[in-house]
Amino acid sequence: MNDQLREYVDKRDFSRTPEPSGEDENVDPFFVVQDHRASSHHHDFRLMLDGTLKSWAVPKMVPEELKVKRLAVQTEDHPVSYGSFEGSIPEGEYGAGEVKIFDRGSFELLERTADKIVVRLDGARLKGTYALVKFKGKETSEKNWLIMRTR
Ligand code: MN
Repeated sequence: MNDQLREYVDKRDFSRTPEPSGEDENVDPFFVVQDHRASSHHHDFRLMLDGTLKSWAVPKMVPEELKVKRLAVQTEDHPVSYGSFEGSIPEGEYGAGEVKIFDRGSFELLERTADKIVVRLDGARLKGTYALVKFKGKETSEKNWLIMRTR
């Protein structure tokens, strides 16, 4: 078990949820946006980086228009195999609700620092340059980022 996935595994009971437990596929880097009808309807934006899926929950959905900033709350790393997951997480389980793939495609990493990630997405719906920028300041959570399409 990849140590990055400890939090992912700890939150789930794989005898109850159909989500992947983490055996990983060997695939080219991709991004995926999953539409997740949990207690609140949101998007999950995931980028394959460092051999895992870096993940953000986007409460108001990933913007398709230019320059629209949306909150993106970083969540635990997910296994690469989660990128093809669609299904129903049962009531009572973490993230209970329907998961569907909204978009998936390749991406090019243009910039990466501790508080900024810039990628060019080539999906069926999402095409263009997207920036994820970490919030600054001590009042906001370390996990809060903004996502926007810049080009
Ligand atoms: Mn979610």
